[in-house]
Amino acid sequence: MLRRLKPPPHVYSSVGFDRAAIYRKDLAWLTQRRSDHATRVILSHGLNLAVLEAEDGPHAGFLTVADLGQELDDNAVFLGVIDGVAYFVAELDDPAKATLPLVDLRSVGPVLPPHEAGMMASARALLHWHTTHRFCGSCGTATLPTDAGHARRCPNCGRDHFPRTDPAVIVLVTHGDQALLGRSARFPPGMYSTLAGFVEPGESLEQAVEREIFEESGIRLEQIQYRSSQPWPFPQSLMLGFRATAASTELKIDLDELEDALWIPREVLGDPERSPVLLPREDSIARFLIEEWLAEG
Ligand SMILES: [Zn+2]
Repeated sequence: MLRRLKPPPHVYSSVGFDRAAIYRKDLAWLTQRRSDHATRVILSHGLNLAVLEAEDGPHAGFLTVADLGQELDDNAVFLGVIDGVAYFVAELDDPAKATLPLVDLRSVGPVLPPHEAGMMASARALLHWHTTHRFCGSCGTATLPTDAGHARRCPNCGRDHFPRTDPAVIVLVTHGDQALLGRSARFPPGMYSTLAGFVEPGESLEQAVEREIFEESGIRLEQIQYRSSQPWPFPQSLMLGFRATAASTELKIDLDELEDALWIPREVLGDPERSPVLLPREDSIARFLIEEWLAEG
């Protein structure tokens, strides 16, 4: 059968561009680039980003500062550099001013060129952080963006706040030639996926894997192996992908977390004609973990 396994780096990773953190505090460089006609900017509103429909498919909707006809203000967030050109994301106050469609990254991510998906993922995660961290967590004063949009500073107590990324483990559990997949009530009909959950404060990744799998399925694990990771900016997760082997197959499902879970033999899961489940999105590390295991059969 057709295998569409895409090895890491996964979609939404920072590939093909330099995040160029060295420039985030360089005010002279930033000021020059915000007015440089060659500088490129993607416009946003809410968490939606501009997309350009080209003949070869959708692209990130980057405009030049020359196209915009005005320089970028201090609120534009610096994303990185490609071939000496600086890239920013800037928020539109009025979506009616958009000259390109503004869409949710989820609807186009898998078909964008990888560097564009990575930049848009970075943009979406930073925009979400700015809109949800407008006040200082220590003293409650309104904070101001700094470091080209990669930090916020409190003008009252001086505390710096940095963008959040929430680590989550995602695990393909196997027992012999069977894989454990589950479905949450919020999944599309028929879709089953690998089990996942957020890492808690004070936990190692391995402990989070053991705890999540036991809580959700009642399964104890034997071996745990890290595979690869994926930024998942919906809104601010980092998915850490693992493979684990189960000590037994008897399920005790936590119905608050999962609607259902089941063991599926590899030859059934790998055959769309026979498989009782739909697999997760092609841009997800869940899909990669499953396809990677199927390809070993
Ligand atoms: Zn403060």
